[in-house]
Amino acid sequence: MQEYDIIIVGAGAAGVFASYELTKIENKARILMLEKGAPLEQRVCPMKSRQTGRCLGCPTCHIMNGYGGAGTLSDGKYNITNDFGGDLYAYVGDDKAMELMEYVDEVLCGFGGSEAKLYSTEDQALKTLALQNDLHLLDAKVRHLGTDRNVRILGDIYEFISGKIETLFRTDVESVERTEGGFKLRTSRGDEFSCRQLVLATGRSGSKWISKTCGELGIATLSNRVDIGLRVELPAAVFKHITDAVYESKLVYRAKKYGDKVRTFCMNPYGEVVTENTNGIVTVNGHSYADPALYTENTNFALLVSNRFTEPFKDSNEYGESIARLSNMLGGGVLVQRFGDLIKGRRSNEHRMEGCFTRPTLKATPGDLALVMPKRQLDDIIEMVYALDKIAPGTANDDTLLYGVEVKFYNSTVEVNGDLETKVPGLYVLGDGSGVTHSLSQASASGVHVARILDAKYRSL
Ligand SMILES: Cc1cc2nc3c(=O)[nH]c(=O)nc-3n(C[C@H](O)[C@H](O)[C@H](O)COP(=O)(O)OP(=O)(O)OC[C@H]3O[C@@H](n4cnc5c(N)ncnc54)[C@H](O)[C@@H]3O)c2cc1C
Repeated sequence: MQEYDIIIVGAGAAGVFASYELTKIENKARILMLEKGAPLEQRVCPMKSRQTGRCLGCPTCHIMNGYGGAGTLSDGKYNITNDFGGDLYAYVGDDKAMELMEYVDEVLCGFGGSEAKLYSTEDQALKTLALQNDLHLLDAKVRHLGTDRNVRILGDIYEFISGKIETLFRTDVESVERTEGGFKLRTSRGDEFSCRQLVLATGRSGSKWISKTCGELGIATLSNRVDIGLRVELPAAVFKHITDAVYESKLVYRAKKYGDKVRTFCMNPYGEVVTENTNGIVTVNGHSYADPALYTENTNFALLVSNRFTEPFKDSNEYGESIARLSNMLGGGVLVQRFGDLIKGRRSNEHRMEGCFTRPTLKATPGDLALVMPKRQLDDIIEMVYALDKIAPGTANDDTLLYGVEVKFYNSTVEVNGDLETKVPGLYVLGDGSGVTHSLSQASASGVHVARILDAKYRSL
């Protein structure tokens, strides 16, 4: 069995920034990072290389797994805010959370991120316009790296840590056991590693695994939230006045009928709609590039409705998965429908899509989202489309495309303290895998936070 001082499981945003910070502050511990996905340069989704519109359901999804985690092939939007993207502030304090996110931004800038503009919602005119139309614009600064620049920066961070931190790819940690001096890890290949301090940063794709592992170690978890919605795609000109000013606008609306909050999420000006495979369930997402040569003519964003469940229902993710499975069953993956067809109560078919002025950037199956989405969430989303139409006329056009379903699975929230340490001493759970964060900035910030705590421990030995 190979022995280490610290093992980091998961090389997503949280794991990458934990390893970066430990390297930068020249921590002397023997550190190993284990990642179930591929190294950066080998992360190619077969949908891209084979030009197929269908997710092939690879056992380890290149979009979700591998160096950089789910964020690598993402849009690379780093939102610096406590208003959304997670609850890190509730654990470390408001100021500390902001300071950590600003630091992450500084690091990214040091690796070339400063070429990307930092947008801010300080524009009062947009806030006022939103308020006048019953919409609320959340405060944030956002640096949009773009998928291409994001990948370059991650490659440079990997160069920086390699040689100082050992990283093993295609290594899936199957079990964690407590030992007298720390922890013993066993991988799916049967390899064993031991360590004194263990950092679990397994993200959304590791959600089931983390719940199981916490259960085995007697650590409490709570799963009560899932966000269900659709991805909207429309000509970029419709949202240009908003995306030029703030890039990503988080607009919140309270639907009149049910009182549910609906919000815009993950806005991608001139971007592409993509699929995402989480544990075999195909859902929709979006991203965009920094390089104008790769721009499309469309903007896409999600409209999400949060669902929180109370006793006796405990498995909110299963609720989200069941709805996504319906869309997978009817469409073999993601469904697409024209807004006009949805309102007229008819499915979109190949013929109607051919006549559609908005050209889809994802090859999805034309269908009827009303057969998939529960009425409540669908009504909420339709109301929101009309609300957005008031500040961005054209949103409610017949040819606005809706892709479904988009599901934001929230990891069970793991019981951790302000150091993100569980009640098992030496075991830290961070990033999206802990349920504490749901974004690149906050996941990365949680990695820096834990790295500094581990460093202080080693310095005091
Ligand atoms: C398409 C897409 C676009 C997105 N766009 C944005 C965006 O623009 N801005 C934003 O803020 N957020 C975005 N997100 C969300 C963002 O990617 C996540 O919030 C962030 O990656 C979380 O970081 P993490 O390190 O906690 O987890 P992850 O990035 O999910 O990394 C976890 C890593 O752990 C590995 N792992 C899991 N289980 C095991 C195991 N048992 N053994 C070994 N390794 C394991 C996984 O392979 C993965 O690489 C996007 C997500 C997707 C999928």
